[in-house]
Amino acid sequence: MRKRRKRRNGPGPILLLFMALSLGFALLFALNGQETKIAMLGPEDMDVEFGSEFKDPCVEIRRVGKLVHLTDKTELVPATARLSTDTLGRFKLEYVVSDQGEEQRFYRYVNVVDTTAPELVLIEPVNASGSWMAGFSEPEVRATDLVDGDLSDRVKTSYQEGKIVYSVSDSHGNEASLERKISRDGSEPEILLNGGSDYRFPAAMDWVEPGWYVTDIDGTDLSDRVSVSGSVIPYKLGTYTLTYTLTNDQGGTLRAERKVQVVAAERKEAVIPEQKTIYLTFDDGPGPYTNELLDVLAEYGVKATFFITGAYPEYFDCIRRAAEEGHTVAVHTYTHNYRQIYGSVQAYFEDFKACEELIYEYTGSYTKLFRFPGGSSNTVSSFNPGIMGALATYMRDMGYYYFDWNVSSGDAKLVQIPSYEVYRNVINGCAQYDTNVVLQHDVKDFSVRAVRDIIEWGQANGYQFLPLQEDSYGARHSIFN
Ligand code: ZN
Repeated sequence: MRKRRKRRNGPGPILLLFMALSLGFALLFALNGQETKIAMLGPEDMDVEFGSEFKDPCVEIRRVGKLVHLTDKTELVPATARLSTDTLGRFKLEYVVSDQGEEQRFYRYVNVVDTTAPELVLIEPVNASGSWMAGFSEPEVRATDLVDGDLSDRVKTSYQEGKIVYSVSDSHGNEASLERKISRDGSEPEILLNGGSDYRFPAAMDWVEPGWYVTDIDGTDLSDRVSVSGSVIPYKLGTYTLTYTLTNDQGGTLRAERKVQVVAAERKEAVIPEQKTIYLTFDDGPGPYTNELLDVLAEYGVKATFFITGAYPEYFDCIRRAAEEGHTVAVHTYTHNYRQIYGSVQAYFEDFKACEELIYEYTGSYTKLFRFPGGSSNTVSSFNPGIMGALATYMRDMGYYYFDWNVSSGDAKLVQIPSYEVYRNVINGCAQYDTNVVLQHDVKDFSVRAVRDIIEWGQANGYQFLPLQEDSYGARHSIFN
């Protein structure tokens, strides 16, 4: 009972402790007191980007205890007016702080500035052209600036190696640029040269372009739109350059280059027969006496050579007969007109080709053998200096074989001579040499009528009669023009 009473009447130890602490805190707060600290946060002069959100650093009021900080308070005071960053310029912000009835003012300068470059954007066209010729639709370039707005019209475009550079600057000198690579793979067709870019061309009268092709990336054939510059002199040995160009509607250009090397034909060396030989050759036919001549030759089994012209179309059948009977049919010229054929290289070629075609028409094959009208030594062509030397070189390089003569029958004179004189000229000539190329004309009856005796003389004196071949003795003269 006593104990219980004791408990009831006096405070317990826990209550005592509580009471002691309460007293202690009360005393502490009483002694603590408060102090106020006011400070402007952030710089007093600051830049803020145009259009950005301005975060006011504010003025800070801190109320702090002197001894303990359990009840400290911090308060941020914003400026009296909101700063809009939509206007460039220098603005003064004011902060009003009240502390125990006393107002304090703080000021801050804020510069709304533009240091942001415009933004460049490439907008690829929706329906971009897939063809190089029509041009790829260029992407649209848009430039926008926070301050200046749309600057698309002020975008500058510069074309550099492999790229396009777009650039723009705003009214405050902030620059922006954007590069676009110009892709060469897949977006540009290529001119492909048949025969390649290093081309060997056997010398010929006419240049034969090996051709080219170019296909647009959408598959369209553009070959017909390629133009070729440069030229080849097809009969003159040397190296030539041809340039193939294709330009599209936008002024874009494709180019390919070909080096053409005109090379000489391989030649057969002349083979001199071991046996004494006579090559009978007849120029300027076929004519009225050619069939008669062919009869004689057939009778003796002698093969000869005919350097033909186109002078007598009514006897062209002799060309076929001569070939069929084993004679050599070769080119003399179609017109035999000195002024015309030796007037120019081209004129000679044109005439030559006509004669070549005539032979082909009647024999079914082309010949590489020919004789210059007047022989390679002629001076009748001297009205065109150097023409014979040039023609001899070109014709040789093109693989032709020309034949002069070392025995003349003398039948070319304007006046007619007796057949026995033709015969005598021929056998006197042939008696001097083992290999003889005899010049006669089957358009002259008195010459044709000497042939039987010539053959009989030759056969009696151990000569064989042969038609000229590419590798026969050429009896070539010196060239004087
Ligand atoms: Zn002639």
